[in-house]
Amino acid sequence: MPCQDTPGVRFTFSAELTVPRALRGLMGARHAFRAEYRELAVENWEMPQAIPAYLIALAVGELEQRDITERSRVWAAPKVVRAAAADFADVGRMMAVGDDLFGPYEWERFDMLVLPPSFPFGGMENPLLTFLTPALITGDKSMAWVVGHELAHAWTGNLVTNANWTDFWLNEGWTTYAEWRIHEAINGRDATALEIALRKRGMARDLENFARSGQSQYTALASHVPAATDPDDIFSRVPYCKGALFLIALEQAVGRERFDTFIRLYIARFRFQSITTAQFLDFVAVELPGVLEEVQAWRFVYGPGLPGNTPEVASPLIAEVEEQARISAVPSQQMIAGWSPRQWKLYLELLPRPQTPELVSGLEGRFSLSTHKNTEVRQAFLLLASESGYSAAEPAIEEFLATYGRTVYLKPIYQAMAQTVKGLTWARCVFERVRAGYHPIAVAQVERVLKESAARLQS
Ligand SMILES: [Zn+2]
Repeated sequence: MPCQDTPGVRFTFSAELTVPRALRGLMGARHAFRAEYRELAVENWEMPQAIPAYLIALAVGELEQRDITERSRVWAAPKVVRAAAADFADVGRMMAVGDDLFGPYEWERFDMLVLPPSFPFGGMENPLLTFLTPALITGDKSMAWVVGHELAHAWTGNLVTNANWTDFWLNEGWTTYAEWRIHEAINGRDATALEIALRKRGMARDLENFARSGQSQYTALASHVPAATDPDDIFSRVPYCKGALFLIALEQAVGRERFDTFIRLYIARFRFQSITTAQFLDFVAVELPGVLEEVQAWRFVYGPGLPGNTPEVASPLIAEVEEQARISAVPSQQMIAGWSPRQWKLYLELLPRPQTPELVSGLEGRFSLSTHKNTEVRQAFLLLASESGYSAAEPAIEEFLATYGRTVYLKPIYQAMAQTVKGLTWARCVFERVRAGYHPIAVAQVERVLKESAARLQS
């Protein structure tokens, strides 16, 4: 974590990894050479671009690589590397869009490493070696937007960095906005509006949780975090989505053309620097005079929740799903023909809770959602089943919790399981059985969910 007193510390480095000869050692840096001696191998790395400490990354494993473009390759366990390369095949187009929108890519390469399923996040944007969850490998590129997000960090986060964690939204809000722009250039406006709608729903869940625990102060973009607070305890999707929506509000106020010029100016002005929210706002005030007042920026930046002028999104892809969800009956194959996995996720989220066992079992019977190849569709169905008390899905829920360690998948499911005393006992039981396979961050977050549920049940 960057020191609060000395924002902006960045450094270059060189490093040497000694690993068993049968394995590969990787770093988020430029590979210099590998030398092998008897049972060992030494991998040497140089990082010529200055980075903040949180972007240092290394990994060791039995890994294979596949080139996707001249500037990008994927590393993964041998059994998934080919599928990963197919799912991430659009990375070259994404990089071209990024170059165009945000200015030249400054990191030479964009390589990716697929981690084990216990990785607690969707991705981590280490320069030259982005880490990704294997949950993105679906066979239909439907989760490749996470690659777009991590790539966008090359400009917003890694090049222009938040000075400390109270300015976290400068990394994540900007990157979510940039990710949506890349998404739009590749998949069009309708699919991007659907993506934004899904993110807003995810954020709404976090806003509710903060409100319930009396911590709505952490839903301001620039919120004061007391020194004793563990940043993981207040981590949420709010800086991501609310930050991006704030930037869309600015874009809509000045027009896209002017805002695009501003983006390139902003990145060029602060490249390889770490900046504060105040520096950002000062820069906007100079370059786009009057816009902060027009959108009432202080409500986004210092106010809790979502201001009344938060941008709305609409798309026929959302409208189709909303109509189906209103009917609350199992749709026919014909009705959902052509639905993308993202539409399925939104549909499952929109169905009112609790649902009848007939509807949940009808959906499973017709569409086999508990074994859907898209992890987020599967998670949304298992969450619906859990929130509806549908006991036939319990084995599938347990298997899912034992397979994935990504916290945004785990937390809502454990929360749903622990709504009753009996459910809490079940959730604790499953957690004790599978926790050894989770990352310590996921363990701490699930423990917190179960503790809060227990307190709620006792009160
Ligand atoms: Zn991010």
